[in-house]
Amino acid sequence: MNALTVVSVARNMVVTGILCAMTISLASCATMDPITARRTYNLYTLQDDVELGRQVSEANIEEMKKAGVRINDDPVRVAQLREITERIAYVSDYPDLPYEVTLFHTNIVNAAAAPGGAMMVFEGLYDPEIGLVRDEDELAAVMAHEIAHINARHVTERLSRLMGLQLATELIAIGVESRREDTQLGDILRTVSVVGAVLWMPSYSRQNEYEADRLGLLYMARAGYDPRAAPRIWRRVYEEGDRRDRAHIFSTHPASRERYEALNELLPYAMEEYARATGSYPPDYTPPPGFPEKAHDFDWRRHRP
Ligand SMILES: [Zn+2]
Repeated sequence: MNALTVVSVARNMVVTGILCAMTISLASCATMDPITARRTYNLYTLQDDVELGRQVSEANIEEMKKAGVRINDDPVRVAQLREITERIAYVSDYPDLPYEVTLFHTNIVNAAAAPGGAMMVFEGLYDPEIGLVRDEDELAAVMAHEIAHINARHVTERLSRLMGLQLATELIAIGVESRREDTQLGDILRTVSVVGAVLWMPSYSRQNEYEADRLGLLYMARAGYDPRAAPRIWRRVYEEGDRRDRAHIFSTHPASRERYEALNELLPYAMEEYARATGSYPPDYTPPPGFPEKAHDFDWRRHRP
């Protein structure tokens, strides 16, 4: 989707990254991601994320309009989505990104994030039969997960990997002498032609998904949403079984039971974040033995399931 639209944008952006890849090995471009505390490399700047996401989002909205899908046509839901987004973005690691959410009135059960802040929510998410969310805290859990993908910069990280692979292949094949301007552009174009396909609906790795769940749980708690909503969604999904897995794109994510278990393990720590943010635990919550003490030097960035 939108491959052609993003090619020219991506092409301009990747030049720095390309040069990096051409002059020194990708391994030496690797850095510690400040958000995930994981060694990785990303050939894009944060500003690239914003530009790329904006272009893709605009193109996507245009396509949806052409397909006759109504957009942002429910003021109550749109206002709620915007408030949730604002509160969570404020406590995220990159609060100043231009976060924006668009509601599409079509019965797909999903939400998605482009790089840099643009997000989309499909109305099927609210569907009482096949949907995922039943209250505001659950909606906040979904949005926090998407905002976490944006903060962890999973899309451009993945693009960087794809380009690294493909570049390496091409460089070996064509040799250094062909770096004339036109040839180089041709090579870059070939490289980024895969870009569009992975931008909106990237097949995030399991590691990406757990990272977004973990960071999302932290963000929603700090924003004052009850973090118990996050494991509750996934427990319901696995308890209700196949009916849902057929229906939504979240089925490409790790198994719902594993997500529930990973989130549930983190819950007591998240409840401490929530209590710190709001001044108290929810009235129906009692911390498990050892808490809050165990949470004192818990490192959200370095925790791995
Ligand atoms: Zn995800």
